[in-house]
Amino acid sequence: MKVNEAELLISAVRQDQYPKNGLPEIALAGRSNVGKSSFINTLVTRKNLARTSGKPGKTQTLNFYDIEGRLMFVDVPGYGYAKVSKSEREAWGRMMETYFSSREKLRGVAMIVDSRHSPSALDVQMYQYLKQFELPVLVIATKADKVTKNKRPKHVKNIRETLELEKADNILLFSAETGQGKEDAWKAIQAMIG
Ligand code: GDP
Repeated sequence: MKVNEAELLISAVRQDQYPKNGLPEIALAGRSNVGKSSFINTLVTRKNLARTSGKPGKTQTLNFYDIEGRLMFVDVPGYGYAKVSKSEREAWGRMMETYFSSREKLRGVAMIVDSRHSPSALDVQMYQYLKQFELPVLVIATKADKVTKNKRPKHVKNIRETLELEKADNILLFSAETGQGKEDAWKAIQAMIG
């Protein structure tokens, strides 16, 4: 999909702030600094639509992007900051719970992981959390440019096994550096929105 128009509609915290345009939605999840903003920016061919490297302590919001009036990307705040307080973590949890349990147009989640490493315990938890809501999950193994080509299949296999991916869930190698996986990511996203 070639995207010419993408726009941040709102950074929402409360449910009554979510857009009411009725577009199908794909949420994007991943631990902070994994490359989530770069993934979004690559898919929509923008340098800076999604802010890269949000810092802890900033307001944690759900960022709703209108993509060509055809779908929405919802950037959910990165998990796994070392330095957030208990109350911030609880607020994050409540916001996620409300969003994932109530959003009718949510069709699936792209979960970004680092292709170089085994998924962390937090990645595993996140995958299990998403599956509680019975959401289709597309795993994006990013920074593939940093893994030697002949080692990539082994890394993909390890991620699939560590996350205990369900059969129906796909995993794709991706690189914001080289654009690898961009077409396949769009295909998978379009399949999820139907
Ligand atoms: P976010 O916090 O998950 O949104 O992560 P960012 O998109 O801000 O990326 C974190 C860092 O990883 C930045 O320095 C990016 O330039 C870098 N990065 C992101 N994607 C890739 C990639 O595919 N390849 C390489 N080599 N670096 C990447």
